[in-house]
Amino acid sequence: MSGRPPLVVTTRAELRAALAGTAPGLVPTMGALHAGHAALISRAVAENAETVVSIFVNPTQFDRPDDLARYPRTFDADLDLVADLGAAVVFAPTAQEIYPPGFATKVEVGGLAERWEGVARPRHFDAVATVVAILLGFVRPARSYFGEKDWQQLQVVKRMHADLAMPGEIVACPTVRDADGLALSSRNGRLSPPAREAARLIPHTLARLSDLAAAGHDAAALVAAGGDAFAGAGDGITLDYLAVVDGATLEPVARPDEGSRILVAAVVDGVRLIDNVAPFPAAPRPGDGGSRRWD
Ligand code: AMP
Repeated sequence: MSGRPPLVVTTRAELRAALAGTAPGLVPTMGALHAGHAALISRAVAENAETVVSIFVNPTQFDRPDDLARYPRTFDADLDLVADLGAAVVFAPTAQEIYPPGFATKVEVGGLAERWEGVARPRHFDAVATVVAILLGFVRPARSYFGEKDWQQLQVVKRMHADLAMPGEIVACPTVRDADGLALSSRNGRLSPPAREAARLIPHTLARLSDLAAAGHDAAALVAAGGDAFAGAGDGITLDYLAVVDGATLEPVARPDEGSRILVAAVVDGVRLIDNVAPFPAAPRPGDGGSRRWD
């Protein structure tokens, strides 16, 4: 650890005392931090006098107990990374602290939460929205940082935040990728070497579909081309969905435009991976790893 160790607090009372009335930056995470999380934390540190990183593996958002049990936990390494990045406070609550006895409220974000990932993981986004609402209430941040990697989650959070007039601002951060284009994810560590190889099809297909969109092809052509790419890839990778949608409502669109998003979910070796791109990528921004060098 080269930076100053963060103050680790586990209760709401300690958190409020540590923040002493300031409105900090908040980066909600489930730990097992990687360069994708680091990009969010660095941005929060740059934009706020104080940054809180929450580390909480939220049990309610896992639909399968084995998935929750196998979720990676690397707390000591996480603290080292947070220290290096200069965030002052880590909030690492227990499930009891978040959901005390008698807890009974659920935040449900209408149709947005029900499609795409919501089909494969019913109630997942209710659980995400609920825990984010609790964290925003605990921290009362000036800005909260979320990754575009989880595009649907980002839209659910933005919708909830606007509808319920929640504090601060939601800041969206570009997806950080490995050199070959695979979006960084805590789940990538569960991929065997052949599965990791097979997973490259995801970013490669997304890059190809953006090119088709830029060349004027409609959504049906993109979906068909994506389906063919996965069908031709053999048993190692199974496409769950591939869709061209409005970036905010997540409704399918007939023709991609600047406000659209291409979403994909695939299962590799039992590991579910999701990714997304803009059909017409803007010029790459520093740190987003999105320079399309993985075409
Ligand atoms: P998680 O710990 O997976 O719940 O993620 C915490 C936050 O980090 C979420 O806002 C994610 O969207 C974001 N995140 C995860 N992976 C990446 C990535 N590769 N690039 C950018 N943000 C990410």
